[in-house]
Order: sequence, then structure tokens, then C-alpha cells
Amino acid sequence: MIFATAKPSILPMKVKLGMAIHTISDNTEAQNNSAQVVSLLDLNIQELQRTLKLAGLLQTSLEVESILNFFLDSTREAVTFNSAHYVNESHQFKLDVGKEERHTAIYRLRIAGEALGEMRFTRNKRFSNDEMELLENQIYHLVYPLRNALLYQAALKSAHIDGLTGINNRAALDLAIQREVELARRQHNPLSLLILDVDHFKSINDTYGHSTGDYVLRNLATCVKETLRSCDMLFRYGGEEFAMILSGTDIEGAHLVAERVRTTIEQHAFEFNGKNISVTASIGIAVLGSRDTVTRLFNKADAALYQAKSNGRNCVHTFAQAKR
Ligand code: GH3
Ligand code: MG
Ligand code: MG
Repeated sequence: MIFATAKPSILPMKVKLGMAIHTISDNTEAQNNSAQVVSLLDLNIQELQRTLKLAGLLQTSLEVESILNFFLDSTREAVTFNSAHYVNESHQFKLDVGKEERHTAIYRLRIAGEALGEMRFTRNKRFSNDEMELLENQIYHLVYPLRNALLYQAALKSAHIDGLTGINNRAALDLAIQREVELARRQHNPLSLLILDVDHFKSINDTYGHSTGDYVLRNLATCVKETLRSCDMLFRYGGEEFAMILSGTDIEGAHLVAERVRTTIEQHAFEFNGKNISVTASIGIAVLGSRDTVTRLFNKADAALYQAKSNGRNCVHTFAQAKR
């Protein structure tokens, strides 16, 4: 097992090429063996061309997965390996390619003390010193573009997270609903949108204070998330309003989910500073119709929510029901 740390400030490609050229002009022994020198030079020019191409490709994307795929395609041209694995725990990113074998070369990636995860190659034969040097050369080109992509993806992610509850926010909802509606249409799948609004939330704030109100919103988000299936998406839509996108779910399925969410909230023990706070919510459901735009889908869910409030709150109402 080999452990190495990439040092992006070192440019070993230049050093290697320089050595080969120096051999041709100054070393008489090497001049006598010109075929060997030329093939060494050819090899280094190939390496230089490959790494230049890689460096160019790595500039073209800020997607971590694309960056790693460019890197692995280029590395495969230089060194044979059976599997490659990249893991970055702090960014919760993992990529596994190929079947793992016995011999391993591991690189802990760092830039100026900043950990960038671990890259591991495996195969059924030992890696030679030359091959490990080639792997390191490749990694030198990877680290900065990889760091930029990781930072960019983290910034995008945080722009889509609600600061109070930690769930996806309105900006994330706008993107997700557009994408899910297009997908549902293409695949002829049903899609339901649920809008949940906490009942009499203002009086919770007025009675117990704003920090208790915040606590209720945070706990409600966690408790709704735990109630939903992993494929369902939850967003904080506004102050005390939440939206859920249920892909592949028809009106009956959506009603079951909404009822489950409503009863979970009603039965959940919200306790703050030793006080029990009674919390209920109303939910409006809309199912995507063949002519619905995203705006119309939202309007339908809003109208259903309004109806649920009119029906006395702590209940679920679907838009289709409202039309009958
Ligand atoms: P209804 O049953 O009709 O929905 O009544 P409501 O009191 O829930 O609705 P209303 O829209 O009158 O009040 C919502 C309140 O939510 C008003 C606002 O101050 C409060 N709110 C919005 N965002 C937050 C937040 O982040 N934290 C807290 N504590 N309160 C918030
Ligand atoms: Mg509201
Ligand atoms: Mg409300």
C-alpha cells in the first residue's frame, strides 16, 4: 500500500522533459544510444500532450463528477488500473469506478493544509515506481480544478438550503418543480404537489415567543421529513409554509401521504422550555393535469389549501375534490 500527498506546487513534467533534452545534447553515451533517447523523448512528449489536454479539459467544467471522469479517462491512457475510488467526506462525495483488486495506490489530496479527499487506484499487479510517478503527475493537474468544483458545488448547495430548518428552500423548489414536471410529462408519470401551512402559527409566536416559533418550524421540518418516503421532496416554501413534490404519485397516493403527515404533526410532542405546544397543519393537494403549467399546479394546490383552512383547519383537501 502506498501513501502519498500531492504537492500541486511541483511540476515534475517540466523536470522530466528537461532531463530528456539535456541527455540528447550533452551526454555522449546517450547519443550513442539514440534510439533509446528518442523513445524516451517521444514518451515525455506524449505525457506532456496528455497532461496539457487534461489541464484544458479540467477547465471546462465545475461538476465534480465530470472533472473526475476527465481525470480518470486521461489517467487510464498513462497507467493501467482496474478500479479507481474517490471519497471526500466533508463534501459528502464518493465515486467508485471498476472492480476493486489487491494492489493499491492511495493519494491523500491536500492544498495548503486543506484536505480534498482521498484517491485510490487498485489492480491485480503491483504499481511500479514509474507508474506511481505518472499517477502523481496526473493528480497534480487534478487538485486545483477539483477544489474549485467542490467549492462551487458547496456554494450552490448552500444557496438552496433554508437557514432555519436545514431543508431545501424556495429557490430549490423552483428548480425541482420545473425539472419534475418535465420528467413526469416525458415519462407519462403522475405527479402531486402538496402545500402545508401551519395552523394559527401567529398565535404560537404571540403566546410563546418567536424563538419557540422557530423551534416549532425546525422540529416540524424534521418530523415531516422523517414521515416522507426517501423519494419525496420537502421544501420550506415561505414563513410557515412547506411544499412537497411527490413524483410518480397519483391523487390517492398523495392523499395517503398528506394524511400521514397531518396526523404525525398533530400527534408529535412539541416541547419547548417544559411547555407542550399543540401544533396542527392544513394541507392542499394538486395533481399535475395534462395542460397544467407549473404556475397553474401551484395555484391549484394553493386553492386546495385555502379550502382546507375554510373547512376548519387540521385537514387535507385536494383540488379535484374542490371541483366536484
Ligand atoms: P392560518 O391558520 O390561517 O395559517 O394562520 P397563521 O397564524 O398560521 O397565519 P399568518 O399568515 O397570519 O401568520 C403566519 C406567521 O408566521 C406570521 C409570521 O410572523 C410568522 N413567521 C413567518 N416566518 C417565521 C419564522 O421564520 N419564524 C417565526 N417564529 N415566525 C415566522
Ligand atoms: Mg401561511
Ligand atoms: Mg399558517
